[in-house]
Amino acid sequence: LFVEGSLVQGARIELDSGQANYIRNVLRLPDGAEILAFNGRDGEWRAAVVAAGRKSVALVAKEMVRPQPPRFDLHYLFAPLKHARQDYMIQKAVEMGAGLLRPALTRRTQAERINFARMRANAIEAAEQCGILAIPEIAPAARLDVLLGDWEKDRILVFCDEDAPVRNPIGALRPLAEARDGRPLAVLIGPEGGFDSQERDMLLSMSQVVRLSLGPRILRADTAAVAALTLVQAELGD
Ligand code: SAM
Repeated sequence: LFVEGSLVQGARIELDSGQANYIRNVLRLPDGAEILAFNGRDGEWRAAVVAAGRKSVALVAKEMVRPQPPRFDLHYLFAPLKHARQDYMIQKAVEMGAGLLRPALTRRTQAERINFARMRANAIEAAEQCGILAIPEIAPAARLDVLLGDWEKDRILVFCDEDAPVRNPIGALRPLAEARDGRPLAVLIGPEGGFDSQERDMLLSMSQVVRLSLGPRILRADTAAVAALTLVQAELGD
C-alpha cells in the first residue's frame, strides 16, 4: 500500500478514507493485522493496522523489509494523449520499468491540459500493482525540439517511427545491445497524429537516436508504448 507519510520505526500513518475502505472492506484486515507499506522514499515496511476512530484507520510502521532501491533509469518520453488512453499508457510504462515519464510536446500533440496529479496517481497505482518501490519521476512537459536541443549527450534515444522502413525491431536493437556499454536509455512515442517532417529530420540528425519500426501496421500510441518498451527491455533491459 502506498502511503504519503514517513516510514520510520514506530511511525503512525493516518490513512485516507479510500485506503481505510480498502483495508477494512476489501482486504478485511482487523486491528493488529499487518500489511506492506511504501512511500517511494523509505523502502518497504511491515506495518500494523490500528483503528483510528470510528471509521478511520492508521498504520504503525514495524520493520523495514526491503530497502529503498534507486529509480529505474529508463526514460519514457511521450506525446500526451487524451484521458483514458493516457492513463493506460502511463500505467503500462511504469509496469514496463520506466523510471522517468516526460510529456514531449510535438506539433501534432492533441491533448489540451496535462493533468500531472492524474499521471502521478496512475504511476503510483501501477507501482503498487507490480511491487515497484521507486515511484517513477513525472518530469515537466517540454517541447520536443527543446528536449532534443538540450539532449543528455550519452543517453540513447529509441525513436519509435511509424514511417521507418519496416524491419525486425530486434535486429534494429541488437547492435545497440552490443555497443551500448551501459549508456542510459530513453524511448520516444509520438502523438496520434504522428511526428511531422521537421521533428523527424531533427531526430534523424542526432547521433544518439535509434530509429525503431514496430512493424508494418500503424499502432495507437498506447499500443506502441507497450510494444516498444517490451522490445527495449527484452533486448536492452538491465
Ligand atoms: N502517423 C500515424 C498515422 O498515420 O496514423 C499516427 C502515429 S501513431 C498513431 C502514434 C505513435 O506511435 C507514432 O508517432 C509512433 O511513435 C508510434 N508508432 C505507431 N505505429 C508504429 C510503428 N509501426 N512503428 C514504429 N512506431 C509506431
